Order: sequence, then structure tokens, then C-alpha cells
Amino acid sequence: MEKKIIKKENSRRGRLSGKQAKKLPVKQAKKLPAVNDAKDLEKIECFLFDMDGTLYLGNDRLDGAKELIDLLRAQGKKVLYITNNSSRVPSQYVEKLAKMDISATVDDFFTSADAIVYLLNKTSPGAKIYVVGTPGFENFMADRGFKLVRGYETDPDKRPEFVVLGFDTTLTYEKLRIMCDYLVDGVRYVATHPDMVCPAEGHRFIPDAGSIMLMIEGATGRKPELIAGKPNATMINILCEKLGVPKDRTAVVGDRLNTDIMSGINAGSKTICVLSGETSLEMLKKSDVRPDYVFDSVLDIYRALR
Ligand SMILES: [Mg+2]
Repeated sequence: MEKKIIKKENSRRGRLSGKQAKKLPVKQAKKLPAVNDAKDLEKIECFLFDMDGTLYLGNDRLDGAKELIDLLRAQGKKVLYITNNSSRVPSQYVEKLAKMDISATVDDFFTSADAIVYLLNKTSPGAKIYVVGTPGFENFMADRGFKLVRGYETDPDKRPEFVVLGFDTTLTYEKLRIMCDYLVDGVRYVATHPDMVCPAEGHRFIPDAGSIMLMIEGATGRKPELIAGKPNATMINILCEKLGVPKDRTAVVGDRLNTDIMSGINAGSKTICVLSGETSLEMLKKSDVRPDYVFDSVLDIYRALR
């Protein structure tokens, strides 16, 4: 894969950690938008929803989630779900939303796994890869033509061209050790997304891909040369092109400033921050990241648009 192409796709801000990204001057107006100010919101044609903290918390649907999705569909708007979580495949998300009475099909989802496939396919389709991820993610990559390398290979014909790190809830010390060996050998290294934690049941959280990245960096000094998920703009760029919707008529709706909102800013789309998940009004006030719209929750977006 040409480094130039990777650099172009992986915008400057998208390569940075949350803290670093926050310190950069952002393109948005400095003034914080008023909570629940819905000016021109009806012009948005396409809504790209984050899920956890936005539509639900764990297994609990948030008030207004079903009503908003139903309303947007009835108004002829495009509704898709974008997630950094590469540990689940779309069919599992369809099932999860169905349990909350929100209907969706597998085509309505776009994950950081789709984004990494898109980026790797640009220059290295069918590459040999060593995956640190769930069996579901391994199968996903294999189904898309990548050749999975199992274990540490010394035979040059069998060695991976890339180590691909995803959200691995089946992580073992053996996998970490093999990953480190390949990285010390100089094998190229890419990752699906940078999130440090993933929300879990009972308002707890579990270590996510970003935390594994930090451990690997501590051990090897290596960081991924490419991170495909939010705040990288790739998912939004691909979807806007596929759907034929202009960026200024597309909105990313999410609860995290450094991933959801930054991905929209990096893509040049509109951004809607909901305060039902990670970000509080206090955090928003202190941050340099400025969404176009701020709502307490999806219920208030519903109220504004009905
Ligand atoms: Mg979220």
C-alpha cells in the first residue's frame, strides 16, 4: 500500500489521539451552539447514527430513539448506523436493534471493519494479514478475500503483509506476543478504530482497541500507520459517495466528541452531539470540538423535527 494514499485517506486529525485532536484549532465556529437549537435541521437528508450512548445504553433503548428513526424514515430521509465497534458484524446489530423494536437491515450498518477493508483494498486486496480480533472479525476479513495468517510464521512466503488490530474481546497473551513479534520484525500495522473503552452493562466499560494499541506501543514503540474508524472521515466519505448525498446535507449524530463529532468535522459534514452518552454539557463547554447542533438526547431531535 502506498504511504501517500494512506496519508491522504487518514487525515491529520484522524491520526491523532483524542487529547491531541482536541488541542488542534477546529474549523467550526468557536461559539458553542445552543442546546436544542434546531435551525435548518430539516435540510439534513441523511443521518448517520452512532449507536451506544446515542440510541441506546447497553441494552436499554433511549427515549425517542425508535420515534426519531421512524419519523426520519417517514420523512424520506436516509438513516444509517456507523460504528467503530469491529467485534460485531451487521447481522448482530440488526438483532440487537430488533430487540429494541428498531427495524434495520444489514445494509443499514457500516462499521470500522468495512472501512479498513475499503482502505486495504485500495492497494492491497487479498493481502496476507495477521488479525488480532474476534472470530467474527477474522471471518469478516477472510470473506472479503484477505488471507489469514495463523501464528508466527518465519517462512517469507507465509508471513503477513499487515497486522490488523480490531476490538478483540477474545484477546490472549499468545496473540499479543505474536503481534509484538511481527511488529518488531517491521510488519506493517493498521487498526480498525482508536476507542479506549467500550460501554458495557451496568454503566461499566471494558478495554477497547485503543487500550490494546497503547499496550503494544509500550512494548514495541509502534503505532498503527492507519486507523480506519471514527475520527477518520473514511466511513462518512464512503457513505456520502455511495448514497449520492452532499456532505452539507449529511449529519453525524453521536455522543463522543473525539470520535463521532470529529469524524463529521474531518469529513466536512454536519454534526449533532447528543448529551445522553459520554459527553456532558460541562465537557462540551471545555472542549475545542464544536458540533453544529447540540441536543440533550434523540428525543429532543425528534421533537424538533416532527
Ligand atoms: Mg457512542
